[in-house]
Amino acid sequence: MLLATGVVPWDWQATLVVSEPLICRRCGRAVVVEADRFATFEQMHYVCIHYEFEHDPIDPDEECAAGGCPFAALHPRPDRRPSERLEAQGT
Ligand SMILES: [Zn+2]
Ligand SMILES: [Zn+2]
Repeated sequence: MLLATGVVPWDWQATLVVSEPLICRRCGRAVVVEADRFATFEQMHYVCIHYEFEHDPIDPDEECAAGGCPFAALHPRPDRRPSERLEAQGT
């Protein structure tokens, strides 16, 4: 039997999909803060895509040369930053 016309059943499946957390495909944790850039970061956290593609071969606990490294705050290596390197070359 068909549903009565004019009645729109609550689409609980669609609601479920929308409210489902975005899961980082590298670490498996939920992506919340950068959720709007989830696709840009290839379905990963910013730090996860950074460590996956940009950070090597530097120790993950230390700032790398890629720029925007999350570890610049904890173990900064200003000498590795591209701008610093350019200034050093100019002198
Ligand atoms: Zn992640
Ligand atoms: Zn880095």
